[in-house]
Amino acid sequence: MKRLSISPKLTFLVLLLFCQVACSAAEKPAPKAADKSADNSVEKLSVLLIDGQNNHKWQETTPILKKILENSGRFELEVSTTPPSTPSKPRKPGGKLTAAQQNEYAKQVKDWESASASINQKSLALWKQWHPDFKKYDVIVSNYNGESWPEAVKEAFDQYVSSGGSFVVVHAADNSFSDWPAYNKMIAVGGWGGRDEKSGPMLRLREEKWTKDTSAGRGGTHGTKIPVVVKVRKAEHPIVKGLPLEWMHPADEVYGKLRGPAENVTVLATAYSEPDHRGTGEHEPIMMVIDYGKGRVFHTTLGHDTVALQGTGFQITLQRGTEWAATGEVTQPLPKVKWNDHEPTVQTP
Ligand code: ZN
Repeated sequence: MKRLSISPKLTFLVLLLFCQVACSAAEKPAPKAADKSADNSVEKLSVLLIDGQNNHKWQETTPILKKILENSGRFELEVSTTPPSTPSKPRKPGGKLTAAQQNEYAKQVKDWESASASINQKSLALWKQWHPDFKKYDVIVSNYNGESWPEAVKEAFDQYVSSGGSFVVVHAADNSFSDWPAYNKMIAVGGWGGRDEKSGPMLRLREEKWTKDTSAGRGGTHGTKIPVVVKVRKAEHPIVKGLPLEWMHPADEVYGKLRGPAENVTVLATAYSEPDHRGTGEHEPIMMVIDYGKGRVFHTTLGHDTVALQGTGFQITLQRGTEWAATGEVTQPLPKVKWNDHEPTVQTP
């Protein structure tokens, strides 16, 4: 696996020297700090972003997640798209149906059956081919929430992360794979997919300390999408260091009652899940880091849609969290941001 082999201090000196030479020799602007073509000594971190199935609009969010990471100048990205999921069966309209409505529904089901059969047949062949070489990358980012991966892929992924790899979980990616124990350890807590008390406890903040709540109940809920105050709980961690202790994030889902093994997890930030907006009335963990074997995981539950991805704080923490997962440190300087007091701070990625 590629790792940055040069210390940030040395990199800075090399860049400074390079910039001085370049600036005095020509009137061209100096190259960007991490421009690989200009300076081979600064290697970008390689990221594999996985999508292909999600109950969210991954076709819209993947390009934006990719852009956010590329904007930092720290990463180069590849996207791996899994085979598609089978379309879900059309829902039967409620109430007593007229003959015409019955015919229409029967036609929808027939169309669905033939589409599913065709997709299923193709999928089998496609799944056999889908086997990303995880260890080629510095970090894997998941925008995937869908069917189980083939056993060989799951094993390779577990091996990759546990032996020192890096993983970033975004929003509904933590809904995935409720029946895959290793994955649930990697993400610490997740939601939906049949998760309940058997999946593990909920993380609950009681008198400034994190406790584990084992009481019975389903794992995973969220209130209505509203702007959210993000509250930093571990200000000294490199991912959030230097950020305001609180900032407003645009309308998003605050995931609540997530459940899982919750081992080796550090909560970096929370959001209050507003009971007035169908929330839990708890300070829910929304940013976490997890040690999994020798691997590092950054888990953000924010990022429901293109609106949420406009959040300046979301973008900065995704960039820094991805670098931290990949290298264990953050070298990206904090951008100058004018944080709004009573409204979300946003920027177009
Ligand atoms: Zn969502």
